[in-house]
Amino acid sequence: MRVNLISPRSPVTVVTRREKAIQFSRLSLMTVAALFPADTNIRLINDSLEGIDFDEKVDMVGITTLTSTAPRAYEIADRYRERGIPVILGGIHPSALPEEASLHADAVVIGEAEGLMERLLSDFRGGKLQKIYKSDERPNLANLPLPRKDLLSGNKFYREMDLVQTTRGCPFGCDFCSVSDFFGRTYRTRPVEDVIREVKLLKNRRIIFFVDDNIAGRPDYAKQLFKALIPLKVHWFGQASIIIAKNRELLRLAAKSGCIGLFIGFESLSPEGLKQVHKTVNRVNDYDEGIRKIHDSGIGIIGAFIFGFDSDNEGVFENTVDFIERNRIELASFSILTPLPGTRLYKQFDEQGRIFERDWAKYTCGEVVFKPAILSIDQLQDGYYWARKQISSYGSIFRRTARLNKIALLSLPVNLVMRKASRASLKDIKTSMFDKTT
Ligand code: SF4
Repeated sequence: MRVNLISPRSPVTVVTRREKAIQFSRLSLMTVAALFPADTNIRLINDSLEGIDFDEKVDMVGITTLTSTAPRAYEIADRYRERGIPVILGGIHPSALPEEASLHADAVVIGEAEGLMERLLSDFRGGKLQKIYKSDERPNLANLPLPRKDLLSGNKFYREMDLVQTTRGCPFGCDFCSVSDFFGRTYRTRPVEDVIREVKLLKNRRIIFFVDDNIAGRPDYAKQLFKALIPLKVHWFGQASIIIAKNRELLRLAAKSGCIGLFIGFESLSPEGLKQVHKTVNRVNDYDEGIRKIHDSGIGIIGAFIFGFDSDNEGVFENTVDFIERNRIELASFSILTPLPGTRLYKQFDEQGRIFERDWAKYTCGEVVFKPAILSIDQLQDGYYWARKQISSYGSIFRRTARLNKIALLSLPVNLVMRKASRASLKDIKTSMFDKTT
């Protein structure tokens, strides 16, 4: 059987050098690929980087999609289906809106694929695919087949990156986040020995990216994992909530196990903003001290911030940039609050009649799709661009990374790459705020 597994083109992918594009969605496709029988001829296709040959003879196509890539996913699906090739859609968006997705698919997989693929493949062979596949039980993460990383070798469109998943889900339930909806309000862990076995099999093992939504969601598990990583002498990045800074032992073990950077969702400097979206795990008053403790342990920070909370006014952009520079946060990422389908925020904004845009391609977290409370739509959009431009200036990069330590030195080239990508995507944008400051 020949199968193409496709990640659709993102409306915001900035590919400065084709072979250098970072495509995180690959891990989900490699994970799904591992659920097919070993003799299946599988090809991974990265639609952002390579063309799709719709005339290629394949028996089945699988497409994973987020909300912003859904229109492109549907376009690809429709073109294959016109040729009589069955298409399976899965991922976060089809799981949130299965009826919509099923208009473009022979079958839709809701939620995680493990525990469903066997039935789906048996139905496919018998010529009786169901429209929807959904399991009421969350898969146990023990003994999962390892992602088919071998499918990357020889594929010039994919840059190999050591992505590993150790947990699924998050113990928290922020209103804007799709994680709890997709994985349920559960936090499941893979056995530490399974993770270590996978890490040992990685080809490069230079820098690992743990793709978990919150690697320290269960401190006892995280401690075991970090202890087991120490002898492997790896370097790694991961995502965690700021409360990791309150657990000195956990932080010490993270650093000792090779952690060089944590992606942390600060989201807002406004307690009211955090309260609005039930990000109860964050305490604004603890941010400065938490950042200092993480830095003191030798770990860098990639800080994520969201604009557009109901309490945000015109000052939010400058305050946030000042905060990032004052605390020397090595890398910063900005988003516009986006009511993604399936989340509680979507339901709330929908009921309040605040969503004015339903073109999913605009749900990139970089475009305003709802009516803000205090800011105007233009102020929110302009302010977001302004903050991105400020943080990618040489002055800001210097202020945040001018230190003679390992993290600062490592983050400098990444900042410069991000500056290039950011400036490329902002090149044609002219806003009133830019005119004032540049
Ligand atoms: S803490 Fe992070 S991963 Fe967890 S629900 Fe909130 S935003 Fe999502």
